Amino acid sequence: MNCMNCEDSGWVCENHRDRPWEGPHACTWGGAGAPCPRCNVPDSGETPRTPPGFIVEVDEKTKLH
Ligand SMILES: [Zn+2]
Ligand SMILES: [Zn+2]
Repeated sequence: MNCMNCEDSGWVCENHRDRPWEGPHACTWGGAGAPCPRCNVPDSGETPRTPPGFIVEVDEKTKLH
């Protein structure tokens, strides 16, 4: 494990930034996830990596033709 903060999922609880959003020790708060401030801070213009199994929903209406 490289990051104790998020247990390498790359995401933490939005309300508790030192607890992982996924995994056996995931926060049970039920809140939204946030990119881990220690290992998943994207460069400007970049998007944070998503946790494994995370499905990005594509809104058809926002697609450009
Ligand atoms: Zn992390
Ligand atoms: Zn939490």
